[in-house]
Amino acid sequence: MKKTILTGLRPTGNLHLGHYFGAGQNYLKLQDDYDFYLEIADVQGLTDNFNNPEKVRLNTKEITMDLLSIGLDPEKVNFFVQSRIPEIAELTVFYSNLVTVSRLQRNPTVKSEIAQKKELFGNSGESITYGFLGYPVSQAADITCFDGELVPVGDDQLPLLEQCREIVRKFNNIYGETLKEPEPVLSKTTRVKGLDGNEKMGKSLGNAIYLVDDNETIKKKVMGAVTDPKKIKKDDPADPEVCMVYYYHKLIDNPNLDTVCSECKKGARGCVACKKELIDKINDFLKPIKERRKKYEDNPELVDKILSDGSIKAKIKAKEQIKKVKKAMKIDY
Ligand code: ATP
Ligand code: MG
Repeated sequence: MKKTILTGLRPTGNLHLGHYFGAGQNYLKLQDDYDFYLEIADVQGLTDNFNNPEKVRLNTKEITMDLLSIGLDPEKVNFFVQSRIPEIAELTVFYSNLVTVSRLQRNPTVKSEIAQKKELFGNSGESITYGFLGYPVSQAADITCFDGELVPVGDDQLPLLEQCREIVRKFNNIYGETLKEPEPVLSKTTRVKGLDGNEKMGKSLGNAIYLVDDNETIKKKVMGAVTDPKKIKKDDPADPEVCMVYYYHKLIDNPNLDTVCSECKKGARGCVACKKELIDKINDFLKPIKERRKKYEDNPELVDKILSDGSIKAKIKAKEQIKKVKKAMKIDY
């Protein structure tokens, strides 16, 4: 029996390099050997985009195309849409009794996301919604609905996974051994930094290079990337370790990396030339991804079918699981 993998992405924008290196690379490795469920988490996407449903709707398809374009095979990966599996919402309600509000407020990921979303949730989070605060509970429902054993994620998701494990333990303690405790699977690069030097490249942070970005956009973004502030003139020596341009040369595995590093340290390489080289390397890296994407852009009905077929398959598993959970909770009428 193959082990089950569950992971999800919020349809709040296109995939960026952070997704590719922080999570996608792992999906590609794992797709051959596991029973792989990949959730397009539209209900979770709505928690902080409830006032912009068009964005979530549009990106459900966009992000699926992005995932297919990196080389995920729909024969191996079961793509599904969260809102099409109402059993997940049922589980969320059941699990919400097993979590305290203060525990959710202390979750480091939730805390930092609330702090970033001041416009929506107020300067000190005073306008936080019940839905957003509770999204880790719905994430526990996503995972356990499919008996997910392994969850490939970036390290920003670790506190959420820990929260899920706590819910599972509490559920099993009270209602009897029913749910599996999932384990995270981290990539080699656990967190990709943003163009602005922020610890995380994120869709909602405006600091990302997207897999669909065209040459002009990439050029503009890389030209504006943060470099060593001490380097003023072209031939000043600099510290590559504080430079986002060097960071991305390393991330995309530029074979010329040693030269980039030594020339930067000696002041033998100007930032503009270094950025131009990076732009070329990023374009080379994205070329095959964009070519694969074209097939789906030209045939959008293929994407609809992948999501429909996958949601039907996911529904079968979810129905079995909800039956088990309701029986354990003695509400199996
Ligand atoms: P949002 O800002 O809307 O939350 P996001 O960019 O954080 O979007 P998600 O859909 O929340 O993207 O995350 C999808 C997956 O990608 C998760 O496993 C997450 O850990 C991973 N991921 C996202 N950003 C990064 C990053 N910068 N580095 C590593 N992994 C990342
Ligand atoms: Mg996120």
